[in-house]
Amino acid sequence: MSGGELKYVQEAFDSNWIAPAGPNIRHFENELAQYTGAKYAVALASGTAAVHLALCALGIEKGDIVLCQSLTFVATANPILYLGATPVFIDSESKTWNICPEALETAVTYYIKRNQKPKALICVHLYGMPCLMNELLAICDKYGIALIEDAAEALGSTYTGKHLGTFGKAGIISFNGNKIITTSGGGALLSDSKTLTDKARFLATQAKDPASYFQHSEAGYNYALSNVCAGIGRGQMEVLNERVAARRSNFNRHQQYLAAIPGISFQEEPAGGYSNRWLTTLELSSANAGSTPEKLIQALSANGIEARRVWKPMHLQPLYKTAPYFGGNVAENLFENGVCLPSGSQLTEKEVTEISNVIIELIENKKGCS
Ligand SMILES: *Cc1c(COP(=O)(O)O)cnc(C)c1O
Repeated sequence: MSGGELKYVQEAFDSNWIAPAGPNIRHFENELAQYTGAKYAVALASGTAAVHLALCALGIEKGDIVLCQSLTFVATANPILYLGATPVFIDSESKTWNICPEALETAVTYYIKRNQKPKALICVHLYGMPCLMNELLAICDKYGIALIEDAAEALGSTYTGKHLGTFGKAGIISFNGNKIITTSGGGALLSDSKTLTDKARFLATQAKDPASYFQHSEAGYNYALSNVCAGIGRGQMEVLNERVAARRSNFNRHQQYLAAIPGISFQEEPAGGYSNRWLTTLELSSANAGSTPEKLIQALSANGIEARRVWKPMHLQPLYKTAPYFGGNVAENLFENGVCLPSGSQLTEKEVTEISNVIIELIENKKGCS
C-alpha cells in the first residue's frame, strides 16, 4: 500500500457505503477509463470475472471455439470452460513470449476450412509485455474474430502509445494482491462499446430485469467490486506510474548486471511496445547447460530470495490435456527454462545486485570462491 488508500477507505466508512455499490466505484471506474483511454471501465470482483463477462458479452456459447494463448495463468482460459466453449491453445513467439501470429493464423484457417470459425481470441500481455499487436489485429480484422486482451498483468504498458487492454473488443485488468496495483482482490473490464459494458454490468449484478420487483430472464453472476476495495484502488492509481518506473528500473538493472553472462535472455519489447515489466523474467539457454530453473530457484532460496517458475502452458496442463493446440515448442521451452525474478516495486539497487550475484555465481559455478 502507498498510504493514500486509507483516505478513500475512510470515505466509504464515513458514508456507510460498505457494499458492492457506491461513489468509490464510480470514481475508480472513471480513473481507470481516463488512465487507459478506454471509453468505459467496469470494476469487478476479479480479473477472472472480467474474462468471463467479456466472453458472455460477446455471445460466446457452448460449442464455440475460442482461441487462447497457451503460455499464461490458468485464469485466462478457465472462463472458456465455464461457458462450455472449446479452448484451442496457441504457441508463443520467443521475442515477447506472447502468442505467435503464424501459429494463430494456421489455427484460424484450419477451423475456417472446416466451417467452424473461431468466435474469439484471448491474447495475453504476459508479465506486462505487449503482444505483437499489429500482427494480431490484422489477423482478427481479416477473419472477423473478436479480440479480448488479457492485460491482467499489464496495467501501465502501452503499444504505439496506446494502453494495453484498449485494442480489442474488450480488455481485462486484474487487481489481485500480486499485480502491479491491487485492491486486495478485484478486476476490471475495459471497452469502447457501451453495449458490451452495459451487458457486463447487467450480468455482474445477477441480471435483474428493468422492473420494480426482482425479475430475472437470464442467469447472472455476483461479480461487482466492493466500494471499500474500490477505495483501495483509487489510492493505488495515484502510485501506478511510479510503480511502472520502479519495475522498469528493476528490469534494467537485472539486465545490465546479467548482460555478461552467456545464455541468459529476457522478454523483448516489440517495436512500439512499452512494458510495465511487472515481472523480470529470464530464459536460460543451453549455453549454460546444467543450471536449470529449479537449481536457480534453489540457489536463490538458500540466500533468502524467492523466485518462481514461468507459467506452465495450458496445453501441458492435465485440465486441458484434450484441448487442441497449434504451434511448436516455444511456450514449452519457456516453461522448461524460464524463471521469474523478484520484481517488487520496493526492490533496492543493493537487492538487485545480491540477486544477480547469486545467479552469476551459480552459472559460473564459482560457488564457494570469494
Ligand atoms: C492474475 C491474472 C488473471 C486473473 O485475475 P484475478 O484477479 O486473479 O482473477 C488473469 N490472467 C492473468 C494473465 C493473470 O495474471
